[in-house]
Amino acid sequence: PLGLHDFINSELQSYKSMTSGNHVTINNKIPEHVEVTADTTTLTRILRNLVSNAVKYNRPNGEVNIEYTANDSFWQLHVSDTGIGIAQKDISRLFERFYRADDSRTKQKVSGTGLGLSIVKEMVDAVGGTIDVKSQRGVGSTFTVNFPIVEDDDQTGDKG
Ligand code: ATP
Ligand code: MG
Repeated sequence: PLGLHDFINSELQSYKSMTSGNHVTINNKIPEHVEVTADTTTLTRILRNLVSNAVKYNRPNGEVNIEYTANDSFWQLHVSDTGIGIAQKDISRLFERFYRADDSRTKQKVSGTGLGLSIVKEMVDAVGGTIDVKSQRGVGSTFTVNFPIVEDDDQTGDKG
């Protein structure tokens, strides 16, 4: 199992350059005792894409919060921001390759290829998870990834 709090903190070390432009603060709100079973490469790529968006589409001095919840079958990673938000008409298309919402091109004027979320979606699908978005224009957005809870089979060394 992976200690999620410490894992996220170590990832955040390498994001320093992301936040220097607009002075956004990233808060790791994962409790220290939380352990998950996850492929760290997948988790790193999902986290990096979601956090980079939450920083890019934020306001100056804004915040990004990273949180954890769980139920019987899934654990959730939430990445929320205090940014420009996403119009309802764009939400269903965000995960398409090369799709970029009008607001991010006109108001925020930040560059991007529109590929990050399509890659996130592919990786989430590959692990049997789901991703959803809640957003309010001018207020902010929350991206939630649901990861299936898999039993860590420490007991058996049986590969047969
Ligand atoms: P890149 O390929 O560099 O990630 P990108 O950030 O434009 O480019 P995606 O990460 O796929 O592409 O995001 C697609 C679009 O969804 C963005 O262009 C932006 O319009 C919108 N978007 C994504 N995350 C947010 C967010 N947190 N707040 C507001 N809009 C967002
Ligand atoms: Mg992106």
